Amino acid sequence: MRHWINALLTLYFPVLIAGFFTLIWGERVGLLTLCVWLFILLWSERQKLSVFDNWLNSPSRGALPTLSPGWERVFKSFIKIQKHQRLSESELNRALDRFEQAARALPDAVILLNNSRQIEWCNTKAEEYFQLTLNRDQGVQIDYLLRQPSFRAFMRSPDAEASLNLRLPRTGVDRLVSIQIIPFGDAQALLLARDITEREQLEVTRRDFVANISHELRTPLTVIQGFLETFEDNPADNPELLSRGVKLMSDQSHRMNRLITDLLALSRLETSDSPEKEVVNMSSLIKNISEEARALSANKHDIDVQASSDLNILGSEEEIRSALSNLVSNAVRYSPDGGKISIRWSLTDNEPVFSCLDQGVGIAPEHLSRLTERFYRVDKSRSQETGGTGLGLAIVKHVLNRHNAQLEITSEPNNGSQFSVQFPRDTIAP
Ligand code: ADP
Repeated sequence: MRHWINALLTLYFPVLIAGFFTLIWGERVGLLTLCVWLFILLWSERQKLSVFDNWLNSPSRGALPTLSPGWERVFKSFIKIQKHQRLSESELNRALDRFEQAARALPDAVILLNNSRQIEWCNTKAEEYFQLTLNRDQGVQIDYLLRQPSFRAFMRSPDAEASLNLRLPRTGVDRLVSIQIIPFGDAQALLLARDITEREQLEVTRRDFVANISHELRTPLTVIQGFLETFEDNPADNPELLSRGVKLMSDQSHRMNRLITDLLALSRLETSDSPEKEVVNMSSLIKNISEEARALSANKHDIDVQASSDLNILGSEEEIRSALSNLVSNAVRYSPDGGKISIRWSLTDNEPVFSCLDQGVGIAPEHLSRLTERFYRVDKSRSQETGGTGLGLAIVKHVLNRHNAQLEITSEPNNGSQFSVQFPRDTIAP
């Protein structure tokens, strides 16, 4: 009701006064009165708007200033709409932040490209892979940064199903990434890049492994096949050839057997869970290993053993035996007759250490880092002569990894080698 009275007073009252003045002083005065009244009215409304404008722009807005009830209603509705908009804006910002955080955390590189193939946004992985800096490279054409012809051709005909393998420079090994371009929206595109360096290396290792096994098996099989064909053509009329052939075939079949045994041991070590821990009586285990080594050497080497009798560890006896006996048998196989081999087992700096020192052929420094690779041999003919499979140190490495132990090799050509195994302090059996 108050609003209506206010409206009547504001709009009809001036008209009544103006009519009254017209009757007394004529039309001109009446019209002038009406104009003056309207001017005052407009000026006062303008003042209210400016008060509201100042209030809106003030950084520390208090309560809404007192205005006429009509304006107050309009302004309150306006403020409500503004609040609502701010709320949806901040919700949108939060959603965008969440999206950005998720995209940043992705394990793959993501680059958002606009319809001119300029960088709009990219995540941290993309910065790392493509050596980009978002702030610097935003707006730069992607094929200006990635200039490989194969990439440019790929960009010209993007297909969400296709992928391109691209080698990206990096310190050390180059990175191989698989790139996909996914078109979306209004001719925009998402560039996804996944690091497949490790996958490629695994594939290379797998291929090398198959090639190595085939190669290792081919030699003994060729020898056996050769003799069998000879005996087929000249059935046992040469007893000397026969006995030599049988001996060689037997050696080669043993070699194949050792190879398969070592391969199976490696595969078990690679695929099985961590070994069950048991107390390993190391001095008795080392005594057994050294006796086997004496048998292998046919007492042609001087094998000296010093092992702390009360130093036992927790681990898998079978695995530790296989690793340490590989090291000792290598010392025998790569040492000339008469060479001294020293086997030690003791606490060194509070850590249990096994070491095997020989005075054998030694190893040149460039080979040391590769010795534990499968089928890596410094001198292939010597390894084969002495019955080596090229897998011994690969087995040692796996066993030691499973026991958190470290292998240290020091060697000099013609001056012997020392292989030391350092077990962690916490493997000492109580
Ligand atoms: P292999 O069956 O050929 O001995 P390993 O994996 O046991 O294979 O050893 C890898 C290579 O490391 C050997 O071929 C040999 O060249 C070298 N090597 C290992 N132990 C010794 C050692 N004690 N002295 C000299 N060379 C060694």
